[in-house]
Amino acid sequence: MPLIIVTGLPSSGKSTRAKQLYDYLAQRITPADSSTPAKYRLHLISDDSLSISRAVYDLSPSKVPAHTRSANASEKDARAALYGAVKRVLSDKDFVILDGLNYIKGWRYQLHCEAKAMRTPNCILQVGCAPDRARRVNQERLRKRQQPDAEKQDDDVIPEGDATEAYDPGNWDNLVFRYEEPNPMTRWDSPLFTVIWEDDEAQTRKTFDSLWDAMAGDAKPVVRPNQ
Ligand code: ADP
Repeated sequence: MPLIIVTGLPSSGKSTRAKQLYDYLAQRITPADSSTPAKYRLHLISDDSLSISRAVYDLSPSKVPAHTRSANASEKDARAALYGAVKRVLSDKDFVILDGLNYIKGWRYQLHCEAKAMRTPNCILQVGCAPDRARRVNQERLRKRQQPDAEKQDDDVIPEGDATEAYDPGNWDNLVFRYEEPNPMTRWDSPLFTVIWEDDEAQTRKTFDSLWDAMAGDAKPVVRPNQ
């Protein structure tokens, strides 16, 4: 069953959408009759589920520890951990949602090849959000980290109880600069589904329905490793 690669700018709402998709799929794969065993399993893998810090993406010279083998060694290690976690569970019986930046096209290609080797399809769920809004979310998270007891300032940005780690500002800017937009004309970035920040429940459900039809419905693709 499919590998669903979530992608989007840092703090653009990816984990929120990944969780909504998880809940949607959980509902769809649970048999109506509770005595029937479920045909499929569902997994949500993310930096948070593997305890990967946002700092691994930081390439600022002052943040790179001395004697590391390369500037992005920690990010490479993080990707290896994510890859291992996906590989362990991906099969024709498992839905896997990979929630993360997934911003490098070569990385998405690598994941596509892994899915193909497992004879299972993959797709992209792009979370669209204006960079300014995503920046405000990160700034609010940073502010909370620095002054945990201060009053909320930017009321509509993050809800009470949001405890997600923030990116340092230079790290955030750099990730936005390095972000490689998915291109649905390529095999590894298609099919591509998009939800944007403003999408309400009905619109989001419509997108998830299309994703389900394409990946698990009657018209789901047959994947052969040598294609
Ligand atoms: P990311 O995973 O990209 O860092 P999150 O999903 O953690 O982003 O979302 C960042 C913050 O924005 C969270 O506090 C979340 O509740 C809020 N948020 C995310 N998507 C939306 C949305 N579509 N509408 C309103 N608030 C949202």
